[in-house]
Amino acid sequence: MTLREFIVEAEGRIGSDSSWLDTIVLTEWASGIRRERLLAELSRPLDAVLESDAAVRLDEAIGKRAAGVPVAYITGSREFYGRLFAVNPAVLIPRPETELLVERALEAAEKRAAALMRSVTIHDLCTGSGCVAVSLAAELHRDAYSVSMSDISSAALEVALDNARSLLGYDLDAWVSDLGLLHPPRRFDVVTANPPYLSSSETRNVLSKGWGEPPNALDGGADGFEMLQRLARGAPATINPGGTLLVECAPNQVERLMSVMYEGGFQDVYSYQDLSGADRVVAGEVFGGTDHDS
Ligand code: GLN
Repeated sequence: MTLREFIVEAEGRIGSDSSWLDTIVLTEWASGIRRERLLAELSRPLDAVLESDAAVRLDEAIGKRAAGVPVAYITGSREFYGRLFAVNPAVLIPRPETELLVERALEAAEKRAAALMRSVTIHDLCTGSGCVAVSLAAELHRDAYSVSMSDISSAALEVALDNARSLLGYDLDAWVSDLGLLHPPRRFDVVTANPPYLSSSETRNVLSKGWGEPPNALDGGADGFEMLQRLARGAPATINPGGTLLVECAPNQVERLMSVMYEGGFQDVYSYQDLSGADRVVAGEVFGGTDHDS
């Protein structure tokens, strides 16, 4: 069997929309051979290209993918904002659209830094793999910004802490918390969140396709809006006057989220579009002036 024949067969076994790319990524991962070289060796016998232990690893990986396990859980990592994050089934796999949350939070943090005479505090709620918190910490100067993160799941927080340590070389402050709301009041200048915002039926639907991600990272209640609502109502208590909340949501939730934020005491509420042109992030400032002493 040639490598080409193997790939065609694996694609058939996987049977997903992305089965060609999935097969290539898994072959790269199992063999340690980059795709440029693999593609140049398509006509060679499989056993001349892959070592036997790599072939076994690959066969197992294709089997898992065919059973619906996401590629990122098989390889144990996913790229986000230019860095490779460790992931496991305790965390949501970082999505490309969430990079928009990072971009907007960087802008908000830099704007805040220009207005304050002290270091800017940033907190990422529902941090999961830590992809947002760690990207922010990596992009901002450590002396001028202090980033922390929380999640309701301690298993997720472990993944986030590992990512902080390996990608930043230092620990980020992190704690288990339900939307940061039950915690003794602590206020931040910038709060980010990518909370669960699918409806329960959407969640069941994606999980039944073997998505394999933690339901509590996706399920935002009957209409998908429960966590967004709690967050929009509760967040002002955790944000300094003049500070900013930035939240990812589904495009059809943007208007409702913006109005709940206005009702909850936010001013200057904006929405931002992701690369596919869909409204994806809502940001609002908490009413109040510049505080120099909190
Ligand atoms: N954007 C994710 C999806 O559609 C949902 C993530 C979330 O609920 N935070 O798969």
